[in-house]
Amino acid sequence: MKIGIYPGTFDPITHGHTDIITRSLRVFDKVVVAVAPNPSKHPLFTLTERLEMICIVMEKMKQVEVTHFDGLLVDFVQRYGGHAIIRGLRAISDFEHEFQMALMNRKIAKQVETVFLMPSEEYSYLSSTIIKDVANHGGALTEFLHPEVARQLQDRIRSLKI
Ligand code: ADP
Repeated sequence: MKIGIYPGTFDPITHGHTDIITRSLRVFDKVVVAVAPNPSKHPLFTLTERLEMICIVMEKMKQVEVTHFDGLLVDFVQRYGGHAIIRGLRAISDFEHEFQMALMNRKIAKQVETVFLMPSEEYSYLSSTIIKDVANHGGALTEFLHPEVARQLQDRIRSLKI
C-alpha cells in the first residue's frame, strides 16, 4: 500500500488543500494529512482546532488519516512508513521555497521523495493567509472553504475584533 504524507500548517484547511488531497488519492492508496504545530507562523487556530476542522472536511474520505507531528518531517515520514511527501505547487512563487525544502529533506533522508501536485486553476491563487485576509475584511468564503471551516474562521475573527 502506497502511503503519501501531506504536511502543512492548515491554518485553516481550504479547498486548495482538499484539491491536493483528492489528486493525491489518484497516486497513493492512503494519504496522511500531517499537521505541523508551526508556532513560529503564529497560527490563528490551535493545533487541536486545525486537526478538528480537517477531520470534519475529510469525514467521508476513508483513505485519509489526519494526525500531527513534531520535529523533523522526514523523521515522521520514516517512522510512519510513508513512501513520499506530498506538497502543493501553486505559482512560480512557491517553487523556490518548495525546491529548497525538498532538497534539504532529501539530503537528510535520501530515500524520502517529495511529490508535487498542482491544484485546479480555480485554487491556484488560494492560500490560508489570503483567505484569512478576505475573512478579516468581511468577504465571502463559501467558494474557498468548507461551510464549517468558514463559520469557525468568521467566529474567530469576530472574537478577535471584540
Ligand atoms: P505550510 O506552512 O507547510 O506551507 P500550508 O498549509 O500553507 O502549510 O500548505 C501546505 C501545503 O499545501 C503546501 O505544499 C502548500 O503549497 C499547499 N497548498 C496550500 N494551498 C494550496 C492551494 N490553494 N493549491 C495547492 N496547494 C496548496
